[in-house]
This record gives sequence, structure tokens and C-alpha cells, in this order.
Amino acid sequence: MEQMIPLTIDGVRVEVPQGTTVLEASRKAGVKIPTLCYLKDINQSGSCRMCVVDTGARAFQAACVLPVTKDMVVRTNTPDLREARRVLLELILSNHNKQCLSCIRSQNCELQKLCKDLGVEDGNDFAGVMNQYEIDDFSPSIVRDNSKCIVCRRCVAACDKVQEVGVIGATGRGFKTSIASPWNLHLSEMACINCGQCITVCPVGALHEKDDTSLVWQYLADPTKHVVVQPAPAVRAALGEEFGLPMGTSVTGKMAAALRRMGFDRVFDTDFAADLTIMEEATELVDRVTNGGVLPMITSCSPGWIKFCEHYYPEFIPNLSSCKSPHEMEGALVKSYYAEKMGLDPKDIVVVSVMPCTAKKYEAQRPELSNGGLPDVDVVITTRELARMIKEAGIEFTMLPDEGFDDLLGESTGAGVIFGATGGVMEAALRTAYTFITGNELEDVNFTAVRGVEGIKEATVKVGDLDVSVAVVSSTSMAAKLLDAVKAGEKNYTFIEVMGCPGGCVNGGGQPIVDASVRAKVDIRTERAKALYNEDQAKTLRKSHLNPEIKKIYDEFLGRPNSHKAHKLLHTKYTVRPKYEK
Ligand code: SF4
Ligand code: SF4
Ligand code: SF4
Repeated sequence: MEQMIPLTIDGVRVEVPQGTTVLEASRKAGVKIPTLCYLKDINQSGSCRMCVVDTGARAFQAACVLPVTKDMVVRTNTPDLREARRVLLELILSNHNKQCLSCIRSQNCELQKLCKDLGVEDGNDFAGVMNQYEIDDFSPSIVRDNSKCIVCRRCVAACDKVQEVGVIGATGRGFKTSIASPWNLHLSEMACINCGQCITVCPVGALHEKDDTSLVWQYLADPTKHVVVQPAPAVRAALGEEFGLPMGTSVTGKMAAALRRMGFDRVFDTDFAADLTIMEEATELVDRVTNGGVLPMITSCSPGWIKFCEHYYPEFIPNLSSCKSPHEMEGALVKSYYAEKMGLDPKDIVVVSVMPCTAKKYEAQRPELSNGGLPDVDVVITTRELARMIKEAGIEFTMLPDEGFDDLLGESTGAGVIFGATGGVMEAALRTAYTFITGNELEDVNFTAVRGVEGIKEATVKVGDLDVSVAVVSSTSMAAKLLDAVKAGEKNYTFIEVMGCPGGCVNGGGQPIVDASVRAKVDIRTERAKALYNEDQAKTLRKSHLNPEIKKIYDEFLGRPNSHKAHKLLHTKYTVRPKYEK
């Protein structure tokens, strides 16, 4: 039985399980201890000392790494503690580029908030020499600005522990400590997978996505361009957070309305292409199973995962589905099927993807994701960038009426919607593979065994006479663990879904950034996924092969799944890339 430990925090008596830290126990006492480097389950090092508390010991101790002891008496709010925290903040600010007015994180910055809460103004008390840094903006996805870095090391922990990539770390000592890649190389020169998980954990403006909003405005103002937009499934589950709506609010209709008001010529939906991906991927799976192809087949819609596989597990490249990711499929069809229907020259069409993902910016630049010398997708912006554009345009987002997507490449089923959550692609694929294999329709389409946020999920699904063994993983560290087990012969699957970010695209590197104090209390992956599963549940059609626009595009244009034309437009290939040894 779990042993409970009694202690007193700021005069409040609480009991918590043995092994709990004082920081965690303080929540039970209704006390909020300030933190900065702490990030639940990811970074608990006590290095910034912001959470110091007084236990009567000779020195103040960091609450995030201090285990409770029986009858401990903790004080969190004394004049000396407040002064210690203020001095810490003053010291940080003395070597900080304090351009709050133009900073991308202004009003969503944990340092700025702490300074305001603790009454620290400018850091001039310790003014002196400041370190000078070059901004690393060579990556297509990530910008690093060390002049705003507070060396909390959250990004290092996310890159190393969550993603098992480890291309950034602390270098130098004392005042000269900074975060860098080995040999001070740019991120673009490393085996960085562009996932952006480092951005979502950074408390300040030291890491952000490459901003492509000006480029989109430029295209929208150009009368010679026909600008088409497509938002990914997970965007609708999180965009509302940027406008003060509760986490987990689905804003599909308002998002479509906002995109139209911004001036896009067509508002299509990547959910349509998610349904199309299922048609192609389920056909490929059935073909591999029945014709002795390479198994397990592994999904290919997460570009962070794909780059991880190319760098670190190239032996699994033959296992990757050859399907392009959904927004690339949609882009390829906009510049072929749609262009033909509308009598437009594909050279005059600009495809803008709104994605929850920073790696999609990199993906869109891959030369193989193009047709006739034109990229399938011209610009990728993240959910955060779309929110900034909506604000810049003066659109009152929460007041917008719900609108739908445009016909032809805008209709979707519930199967397309759930792509944004870990397990969603697997569930959508099984709904259709069942019909492809048995010729019958599934009655109950809910494959609950592959839902949820656990790092690795496994199930054996009966499809007609076949027992299909499947696994679902999210985050590249979990993918590595699973692939190691497959390599060692310990696990044997038919089909694996991998998403590069923990929890899938709902928690992608381009999604709204959530303060560490909120992340400690709420599972953002679960809350956002609920929005997608609710949308799936509410749809009349929940299987990709029943989408009328999907049927139409095969009838009128593609012929059948995996046809020669479908292969040319919707499938791709992969490249072995150098591995970076940590
Ligand atoms: S990181 Fe925070 S404190 Fe620093 S300039 Fe940006 S908003 Fe201001
Ligand atoms: S984008 Fe991902 S792989 Fe690259 S540095 Fe950040 S966490 Fe690491
Ligand atoms: S870049 Fe951000 S997350 Fe990384 S150490 Fe600096 S402040 Fe912390």
C-alpha cells in the first residue's frame, strides 16, 4: 500500500504519497510556487532555482526536486524567498534581449509573466556585458535566438528524452553557458527532425517557427495568383485556444469562415486528403499482405517521423508506406485535378497548408514532393501563424458564424478527422481495410484499443479470417523503442502507425503553446483529441471509402487506388540520411 506522508506547507496540513516533491505537494495545499525551468515529466532539474522554498535547512531548496519528508514544515512565501526570486529574475534579465514589444512570445512568455507577478521591471540592477549570439534561422522550420534564451534546458530534455534525437545541448560554463548544437553547427546541418517539440516547451521567445505569414499575405495580395488553403485535422482542435476558447473546443466552422475572410480563393480541407490517404494506404496494406510485400507496413504521414526514420532507422525505409502525407496529396490534386476543372494554369496556383507541425515546412521543400517541376505545396504555416494572421486581419474570430469548406476537395468523413490524434490513422485505415478485405461494412467503427495517449499501444484486430496485429506509437523515442523490439524479433506486427510528436498532431510543434503550469494540470493531448473524436462521432459518414468526393475523384480522375496516375501524384520515395551519433 502506498505510504502517505503528512507535511505542512504555508500553514496548510496535507498528506501526499511518498516520493512526491514539495512542488507537487504544494498544489494540494492550494499554493502555487513559481517555476521556470520545471516542466512536468520532462525537465525536473532544479537548475533555475525559481521554486526555492524554506524548510528550515541552512539553505533554500528547489521544490521541484525536493521529496517530501514526514512532518516537514515548508514556507514558500517569505520576504527572503521573494527577494531571492527577484534577484534571480534580475540576473536573468541582465543578460536578456528584452524586446518584449516585438517578441513572438509577448503575452505568452513565462519569464515576462513571472517578472510581472513578482514586480521585477528591467534587470538594470545587474546591468553589464551581455553575451552576443548569431540567430540560427537556416532551418526551414525552426529559428533559434539565444539572446532570449534563459538556459532552462527544457528544449534539451524534449529533444533528447521525448524525441531521442539530442541535437542540442548546453555548452560553455557559468555566464558563458548557452544552448547549441555540437561544433556550433546550425540546426539545418544536424540530424534535427524539425518536429518543433523544443519550441512548444520553451518558456520564452528563444525558439520559434520560421515565420511564413508575410509570404502568404504577399500571395493573397497578388491578383495573378489563385491562392488555395487547406487546414490539417488537428488545427481545428487547438486554434480556438489562441482566442481564449477552452482547450478541446473544435472551431472547424469558424476556421473556414476566417480563412475565407482573409481572402483565400478556395478553402479546401486536408481532412479530404486524409480520407484519400486511407484509400491509398489501405490498398497498399492489402496488397502487401496478400502478395507477400514488406511487413510491417509503417505509416508515412508524419514528416518528423519520416526524417527520423531516414536518419536513424534507414533499414525500415522499405517498410514505410509510399503514400505522401495528406496535405501533399491535396496539393498535388489542387495543381492537377482542380486546375484542370477550373481551367487554371498550375503555375498560377499557390497552395497554402495550415499545419499543427513545423516539420511540414521542411517536408514541403522536399524535391520529390512535386509534379512537373512545381511543388505540391508552396507555403506551410502553423496553427500559431494562422492565429497571428487572423489577429492581424482584425477578424473577431469568436464572433464568426460557422461556414463549410468548398466543394471538390473539401468534404471529409469522421475517419479523416481523427488523423490528428495518435491512433487515428490506424483506426481510419482499419475501418476501410475491413471493407476492402471482407467486402462487408463494419457495424461498429470504434477501435478503442488504439485510442489514448500511451506511448505504445498494441492490438490484434480480426479482419475477416485474418488476425491483423497492429501497433501505434507517438513520439520518436517511442518509435525507436518499438523498432528496436521489431528488429530484435521480440515483436511482430502487420501494420504500425507512427506519429513523430507525443500524442500525435494535436500536440505538434506548431500548435498553441501552453504554459508549464497548465501542462502540469491538464493533459493537452487528451483534451485536444476529444475535439476530434467528438467531430468523428457527429459525422454521418465515418469511413473514408464512403466519402462522395473521394468516389468522384476516383471515377473522374484517378481511376482506382494505387493506379498509375494515383502513384504518380500521391506516392513518394525516401532517402537514407546521415546519422548523428550522440
Ligand atoms: S522572451 Fe519574454 S521576456 Fe524576453 S523579450 Fe520575449 S516576451 Fe519579453
Ligand atoms: S525540432 Fe525536434 S529534433 Fe530539432 S532540435 Fe527541436 S526537438 Fe530536437
Ligand atoms: S531555448 Fe528555450 S527551452 Fe531551450 S534552454 Fe533556452 S529558454 Fe530554455
